[in-house]
Amino acid sequence: MLLEVRDLHVEFRTRDGVARAVNGVSYQVDAGETLAILGESGSGKSVTAQAVMGILDMPPGRITGGEVIFQGRDLLKLKEAERRKVRGAGMAMIFQDALSSLNPVIPVGDQLGEMFVVHRGMSWRDARARAVELMDRVRIPAARERVRQYPHQFSGGMRQRIMIAMAIALEPALIIADEPTTALDVTVQAQVMDLLAELQREYRMGLVLITHDLGVVADVADRIAVMYAGRIVESAPVYDIYKAPAHPYTRGLLDSVPRLDQKGQELYAIKGLPPNLTRIPPGCAFHPRCPLARGLCRVDEPSLFEVSATRGSACHFWRECLDG
Ligand code: SF4
Ligand code: MG
Repeated sequence: MLLEVRDLHVEFRTRDGVARAVNGVSYQVDAGETLAILGESGSGKSVTAQAVMGILDMPPGRITGGEVIFQGRDLLKLKEAERRKVRGAGMAMIFQDALSSLNPVIPVGDQLGEMFVVHRGMSWRDARARAVELMDRVRIPAARERVRQYPHQFSGGMRQRIMIAMAIALEPALIIADEPTTALDVTVQAQVMDLLAELQREYRMGLVLITHDLGVVADVADRIAVMYAGRIVESAPVYDIYKAPAHPYTRGLLDSVPRLDQKGQELYAIKGLPPNLTRIPPGCAFHPRCPLARGLCRVDEPSLFEVSATRGSACHFWRECLDG
């Protein structure tokens, strides 16, 4: 197993009290596998990723429990210097907003090249040549000329390609991509997603793809983990989820995705809002919004029930949900 997150807990101190942003999250990613983590904003999916990457640097946030086993080592037990080495070469992250992740005053080729100078001890001359190769690899036209340009001289889609190039530069075993295409137009989204999926296969990387958009993951993910209020509420192979969700929240997300074959049909959006994480509802956290909720749901917090050998659902009434 490449990455195993076990019972991870993250809390934030806020003026309203302690926000339980991540509440016992466990998941696994194998080499060459793509796990999509799906949820609305505020579900804890980005915070989970930041804790795994070791970049949870907001002062009030802290990991209060769990393990992050990467290539056999618990990253949470490593010193920051060792952690940084893992971050440089073992795992890389792609963010939504390339413009704020890239340095605006350094040509993109130098930002790419620097990785080879710092981590591989290359000369600048060789590193710049590698930068051109990489830009070519992520299909940036006229890479040899554009290598000297600055981030603002690229379109949003091209900047995301540069982010992808930086992420794969050192051939990491794992990439975590947090809403990598959310800021882009739909057609550009698909191109960037295809590129990411292609590189992931080529390098046999593990990929954790964080998104609020179920439409993005259908073609690329092997498994989906759905998060709600800091927990995974359903985890299953992507095919199973599309066939029949085993959790009412997953069903709500599925029904919110516009379908090309059902034009004009009104989109079902899940009623209500995700809970304030300082006051997570008792019982099943989803009960105030759930169309299937009943008495038991308000008092008894469901654990992740085994629906099949490869599937779990944190719903007391998962059978009913499966039957539609
Ligand atoms: Fe809905 Fe109850 Fe299932 Fe929670 S446990 S998702 S409230 S039916
Ligand atoms: Mg986020």
